[in-house]
Amino acid sequence: MRVTPARLSNWQQCPRKYRMTYLDRPTPPRAGARANATLGAVVHNALRAYFDLRVDQRSPERAAVLVREHWKSDGFAGPEQAAEYRERAQEWVRGYVAELPPADTPVAVERWVSAPAGSIIAEGRVDRIDERDGELVVVDYKTGRYGLSVSDARDSLALGLYALAVRKQFHRTCRRVELHHLPTGTVASWVHTAESLAALRERAEQLAAEFQSAADELSFGGDPEALFPVRTGRHCSWCEFRSHCAEGKQAAPDLPSWSALEA
Ligand code: SF4
Repeated sequence: MRVTPARLSNWQQCPRKYRMTYLDRPTPPRAGARANATLGAVVHNALRAYFDLRVDQRSPERAAVLVREHWKSDGFAGPEQAAEYRERAQEWVRGYVAELPPADTPVAVERWVSAPAGSIIAEGRVDRIDERDGELVVVDYKTGRYGLSVSDARDSLALGLYALAVRKQFHRTCRRVELHHLPTGTVASWVHTAESLAALRERAEQLAAEFQSAADELSFGGDPEALFPVRTGRHCSWCEFRSHCAEGKQAAPDLPSWSALEA
């Protein structure tokens, strides 16, 4: 069973959302782009392009230009708000790369990894894989409005799965996982042990067994509403399927596509 962090997160957040995302065919039409997702994609794309440059072409100013070159305004309130956030993103990226050792070249950038981990195949796209002190390090960029703590890095199923897949795929030690929060320029870091990675793997296996069992029962004619119940909450305001979900619409207000940006 192939398991990505997105699948796990969708299942944990709301089984009905999981069903609409991966099982319902045709897939129900999704809501339009959200500004916070656009902003995150632009920063990721700019940083990928930055590390594609030769070392002697890299500089904070060049990184800021790459943000401009990759900019998109989908989901923003209008040109004024989009321009304000483009400048912010340029500042974040400029400041971020200024702190990086200029000659450092990652082992991989935006690399798809896939490897067996217990009863599942852990896979996904890793933002960056660094090498430090002879070990590989998983780096994940974040652009949300809230800073991140050590426990966010420690408890992240996504980072744990990436570390497991990187170890197998590269045949190297990979224990450290890091969340790099661009808006604050901070890093939340955790060094896993074999035991902590095994615990995350077991959690992922358990969740995967749940959604696979529900999918199997559905394919044998099971009740979709019972197998994939709604899990309502504040997140329903941002769910891309809320227009198809009466319970979600009732549970949380409809918010504009730029509402999740930093206040
Ligand atoms: S709106 Fe809420 S309850 Fe409905 S599918 Fe989305 S997350 Fe689930």
